[in-house]
Amino acid sequence: MNPLHEARLSIRRELEAPPALRKFGSGWISGVLGLMLGLAALGSVVMLRFPGVFVMKESARLVAHPGFRTGMLALLVLAFLFSMLSLLLRPGKALGTAGMVAVLAAVSFGGPQAQAVTPDLTPLYFGLDFFVLRLLFTGFLFIPLETVFPHRAEQGIFRYEWREDLFYYLVSSMMVQVLTWLSFLPAQTLLAITSWSAFRAWVAALPFIVQFIAIMFLTDLVQYWVHRLFHRITALWRFHAVHHSAQAMDWIAGARMHFLEILVLRGTTVIPMIVLGFSQDAVNAYILVVYLYATFVHSNLGWKFGFLEKLLVTPRFHHWHHGIEKEAIDVNFAVHFPLLDKLFGTHHMPENGRWPEGYGISGHPVPKGYWRQFLHPFQRKKKGA
Ligand SMILES: [Zn+2]
Ligand SMILES: [Zn+2]
Repeated sequence: MNPLHEARLSIRRELEAPPALRKFGSGWISGVLGLMLGLAALGSVVMLRFPGVFVMKESARLVAHPGFRTGMLALLVLAFLFSMLSLLLRPGKALGTAGMVAVLAAVSFGGPQAQAVTPDLTPLYFGLDFFVLRLLFTGFLFIPLETVFPHRAEQGIFRYEWREDLFYYLVSSMMVQVLTWLSFLPAQTLLAITSWSAFRAWVAALPFIVQFIAIMFLTDLVQYWVHRLFHRITALWRFHAVHHSAQAMDWIAGARMHFLEILVLRGTTVIPMIVLGFSQDAVNAYILVVYLYATFVHSNLGWKFGFLEKLLVTPRFHHWHHGIEKEAIDVNFAVHFPLLDKLFGTHHMPENGRWPEGYGISGHPVPKGYWRQFLHPFQRKKKGA
């Protein structure tokens, strides 16, 4: 067998190791950390080498800041130490070795001293920086929480189809420029052709918290109906079925969404926020919160929320939306306020704190893998699909 392929398989086997082989002290945690931080350092070298290609305009100054190189040195040192620890503790050496290789590769491509090799050729870029930051930031926030307070304790980080969902994460991060531009296009057009300046000035002058809650509510109202249409209309359902094909729920599962659905969903939900003239501060705060909130509602977190569960969407509420059983079909469309589902008759929250038995679509009609899922909605409907 191809040695590279073999190495990849053994790394994967190690990542997906059963719980008994992932215990504290087994060298698994240090191995995973070493590999992740090593890959993050390698990604940072690529950003320094090709800033015009792999760095978002918004974070170009951050990457150019001397602190970025210091941060990268810290990543390299930590990745080296964790990989070393894993090599010492763990009988299987795949994780530790892979972490070391990532560190070596990062250092040999220039490490913290890496210089840009190409000038900024085009205004186009891929958000590699966004991917690395997003993964580190969200991962370090959610992985410990899901480990300590899991809904399904046996699931683990590298669960069924984690690579597929990670690829969705990668694509939507790399395409951040085109996604952002296209998502705001309908709203910007509407903004330009309407002239409600007095009304907009009034909205922008409202207290921050009022604006924030109003954005949350209006966005969710639009999202509710767009989402319901995606379930209702067969042609649209074939796109949305991709999101529902996830059979494991956690912080990364929500990333599984067809590219066109992301565009339609974002393109429509940002309209009230932009057209009604909410202040930039409120809009920015909402974008950050909705990102974390979407991660949160998919996460494998077993927290009980008491009365809050009636007020705000929780993981259990959205997990019911993804449930595989009959009672979970076409329920819980809201992503912030369960009130919307109550108003429109689609609310489903079993009183006894029950969760769905499993996730996905009965019969699993959606094919496996990013590209086949990308093509799936465009292919002619086969029987039962
Ligand atoms: Zn849905
Ligand atoms: Zn979802």
